Amino acid sequence: MTNRKTDGEVFDVAVVGGGASGTAAAYHLSAEGRSVVLLDRHDMNTEASGRNAGSLHGQIQHEPFLEEGEDWARGWLPALRFLADSLRLWDTLGEELGTDLQVGKKGGLLIADEEHQLPAIEAKVAFENSVGIDSRMLSADDVKQLAPWVTDDVVGGELCPIEGKANPLLVAPAFARRAVAQGAVLMPRSPVEGFREERGLHILRTPRGEVVARQVVLAGGDGMPALGRHFGLDLPISSGAVQVSVTERIDPMVSHLVYYAGGKLTFKQAQSGTLLIGGGWPARRNAAGEWVVNPESLRANLAMATRIAPSIADVSLLRTWVGIGNGTPDHSPIIGAVPGHPGVWLGFYPYMGFTASPLMGRILSDLVLGRDPDRDLTPFAPDRF
Ligand SMILES: Cc1cc2nc3c(=O)[nH]c(=O)nc-3n(C[C@H](O)[C@H](O)[C@H](O)COP(=O)(O)OP(=O)(O)OC[C@H]3O[C@@H](n4cnc5c(N)ncnc54)[C@H](O)[C@@H]3O)c2cc1C
Repeated sequence: MTNRKTDGEVFDVAVVGGGASGTAAAYHLSAEGRSVVLLDRHDMNTEASGRNAGSLHGQIQHEPFLEEGEDWARGWLPALRFLADSLRLWDTLGEELGTDLQVGKKGGLLIADEEHQLPAIEAKVAFENSVGIDSRMLSADDVKQLAPWVTDDVVGGELCPIEGKANPLLVAPAFARRAVAQGAVLMPRSPVEGFREERGLHILRTPRGEVVARQVVLAGGDGMPALGRHFGLDLPISSGAVQVSVTERIDPMVSHLVYYAGGKLTFKQAQSGTLLIGGGWPARRNAAGEWVVNPESLRANLAMATRIAPSIADVSLLRTWVGIGNGTPDHSPIIGAVPGHPGVWLGFYPYMGFTASPLMGRILSDLVLGRDPDRDLTPFAPDRF
């Protein structure tokens, strides 16, 4: 990634965070002719946006629905609509950015292999349909038709046609590349360690010098609580290390984004033929305090995958890695103006921020440009907690 000295330059916008959200914001802002500097403490796309499982989510997630019920789901609807609107942007994103992002949208398949799992899925589908989400119940035969590889124990499931997958290694780099082509300046290895405001300008302190901008976008993912504290904001963003695994390439087998109703599991087949297996299983810390793969989580995750797809038991695993996932207490995003600091904006989507990133970038750009973001952002207000 490029880097250049910015001494004396006043940018229209400094974007902090080179994940999918920040690069998307930099892309939109530079497309509108704004001078943009995009800073990251590492390189671009090295944290959650480059380590995630590439699922494009659009249904109410089964686990929080089971745990927190319909009242929570009703309160979460603005966040769900955000995902649904972002999912539509994925359809043309590759073409827009000039990169094949390996987007596939054959739908999400939630699979049940025990009768007692079905009533909760039925309740979820009924609720989703009542609020306009396209999803439907499937019989065991329906699932077998869509997924001939599924266990003989299947008893039914749910299909949500708007869901799918994309390649996380390609997305933020594609946004960043286009932003640079439109004039944006990248500053990798530039952790932002302090902010001050002077005569209407924002001055960002980094070990590589100061960066001056008229407006600031904070899109720092796991770094958001620390960034928020510079502005007196106490953001209740939780942080947990989770792992994802990839197998060797196999012949085309799985066309959907697959979930299991009996526990934490997502899996899908990437365009390259590999299977990506995840679902939010926790990593562990080693003696030096670093996050590393947790073999118990790995065993449990793979056991769940082979339980619903027995034939993959013979497929070799290539690699398992760890990434930091982030949440909020109400599972809703935090988007808007930083109170008391005109010209500072923040954007954070919990748990499923890869799916949300195309829309997040556009909305952050709208806010900076003073345009109507075309939705009520009140449920996402940074000071709601
Ligand atoms: C293992 C795993 C699997 C996941 N699976 C999925 C999935 O399948 N589908 C889905 O939709 N979501 C998934 N997620 C969530 C998703 O990856 C994140 O929500 C999303 O990538 C967040 O994007 P972001 O750009 O907001 O943040 P990030 O990608 O975290 O980017 C933030 C950037 O800000 C930089 N930064 C932070 N602080 C500073 C600072 N002070 N100065 C400079 N730079 C700073 C960081 O270095 C980082 O590069 C998963 C997450 C993990 C960890």
